[in-house]
Amino acid sequence: MRDTAPNSWESRADAHSLYGFTDLPSIHARGAVVLTHGEGPYVVDVHGRRYLDANSGLWNMVAGFDHPGLIAAAKAQYDRFPGYHAFFGRMSDQTVMLSEKLVEVSPFDRGRVFYTNSGSEANDTMVKILWFLHGAEGKPERRKILTRWNGYHGVTVVSASMTGKPYNSVFGLPLPGFIHLTCPHYWREGRPGESEADFTRRMAQELEDVIAREGADTIAGFFAEPVMGAGGVIPPSAGYFQAIQPILKKHGIPLIADEVITGFGRTGHVWGSQTYDFTPDAIISSKNITAGFFPMGAVILGPELADRVQAAAEAIEEFPHGFTASGHPVGCAIALKAIEVVMNEGLLDNVRALTPRFEAGLRELARNPNIGEWRGKGLMGALEAVKDKATKTPFDSKLSVSERIANTCTDLGLICRPLGQAVVLCPPFIITEAQMDEMFDKLGQALTKVFAEVA
Ligand SMILES: *Cc1c(COP(=O)(O)O)cnc(C)c1O
Repeated sequence: MRDTAPNSWESRADAHSLYGFTDLPSIHARGAVVLTHGEGPYVVDVHGRRYLDANSGLWNMVAGFDHPGLIAAAKAQYDRFPGYHAFFGRMSDQTVMLSEKLVEVSPFDRGRVFYTNSGSEANDTMVKILWFLHGAEGKPERRKILTRWNGYHGVTVVSASMTGKPYNSVFGLPLPGFIHLTCPHYWREGRPGESEADFTRRMAQELEDVIAREGADTIAGFFAEPVMGAGGVIPPSAGYFQAIQPILKKHGIPLIADEVITGFGRTGHVWGSQTYDFTPDAIISSKNITAGFFPMGAVILGPELADRVQAAAEAIEEFPHGFTASGHPVGCAIALKAIEVVMNEGLLDNVRALTPRFEAGLRELARNPNIGEWRGKGLMGALEAVKDKATKTPFDSKLSVSERIANTCTDLGLICRPLGQAVVLCPPFIITEAQMDEMFDKLGQALTKVFAEVA
């Protein structure tokens, strides 16, 4: 199936590209999928093949790949003012308007926004803000960062240290002082006979124990995704955030919601923290903030942190941090339009309207004897492949079951993502009922074929 001619797109991609997060044996056998453009939720490759992208690109292209309003907003801003920074007291009018808008749509009644070019940089920035703040408040030893196993917070040195994935050991990470708590995944981590409520209580007790062991006055902050995304779409156990937030408050530890995936509608509310009914001290946003049409990340500080950080900065006359392209006028103009499109042009409504159908599709496929669990929230979901459903035993990892499922889907014209032994679906918010049926139909065919091969 691979075009091996030296001048094929596949060979040219291979010759000069270092692939990130890519299964190299698959790519060597199959070749890269080289894309030219998109139409709604579909992308088209150099051979003219169309794929329904059930992953919204990388969770972020929620308005599809050719949204006319977003393209027009980008073009108009390129005509007006195609680039500027946000240093030395200068910034574009678009940047001013976006900060107002982000605070307005945030769960906070007041706040301040700091821009980056990615989610990783936004998490790094938040850690620097916390270190800066605690230092300025006379507590420079408050530096440790708490996150959870399977949490994904990015790939820069600090955000990779926060990410709770074993692959980071190949870089000699995490750095010291980054502590990972148990992943609150009841299906996988719950003990035999343990109720979900007891499991949540155990997670909260673990947090208490870690704080006692490390000392509250050595901990800078706790970061959590409302629903873990790249860890395999893992919603928290029932009552999780209600159980941990009072413990963090009691010890003066800020709770930072990494809403890079869950922000702007993915779980059926603007913020995942609203879906799970808690108010964090700050929000990390990226991905959907521009519907994927521009690289951007943002730290949104709630009122208390905003005031404290502002006071700390005034004490030394500046906050010495920033990226050349932070608050880029084109990115800000696109984000303003993207927020409008998601909130007021029907996308969030469509997420809500289609969630029951999405869940029904997952539930139906989970009847397969080799699917151990379906899980998800809003339009993010996963199916976990297992060799034995009763014992939750995974397949031999050498079988690369989820890779095979995803590759079979690609052959059928569907893009979905393998994550561990799960297959992840997070379609664009513009998806229709018919396209959702196409997605589940193709995934169902792939499951049948692959499980017949490996069973
Ligand atoms: C993708 C992601 C990041 C990292 O964002 P990049 O833009 O890839 O650096 C951080 N946190 C979460 C929850 C993410 O899903």
